[in-house]
Amino acid sequence: MSSIFTKIINREIPSDIVFENETIIVIKDINPEAKTHLLIIPKKEIETINDLESEDTQLIADMFFVAKKVANDLWISEWYKLHFNVWKKWWQIVMHLHLHLLSNI
Ligand code: 5GP
Repeated sequence: MSSIFTKIINREIPSDIVFENETIIVIKDINPEAKTHLLIIPKKEIETINDLESEDTQLIADMFFVAKKVANDLWISEWYKLHFNVWKKWWQIVMHLHLHLLSNI
């Protein structure tokens, strides 16, 4: 079953999109835990870090380069943190891989 993030990627539900390319979308978190709280989401449906395959190596690298670019564009490149939640049905609520980018600047 498609996740809510796939619906966002397909424009079936609205979101505040910060960046998008062929393989990745970056949106503002609907329930921010910091002044800046973005979600870097691969368009490919991968549930968790544990589901990565070797063919996803470039995609994961690209997620970090997108994080770096977005932080730079927002002038927070010296003050942010990145994290993945990986714990089904607790920390990771949305079962579609996503990298959190948070900053209080
Ligand atoms: P997780 O706990 O799965 O790592 O984090 C999922 C994040 O997605 C949460 O921070 C939550 O606020 C955010 N989120 C859930 N549903 C939506 C949505 O429909 N739109 C946006 N923009 N963020 C969402």
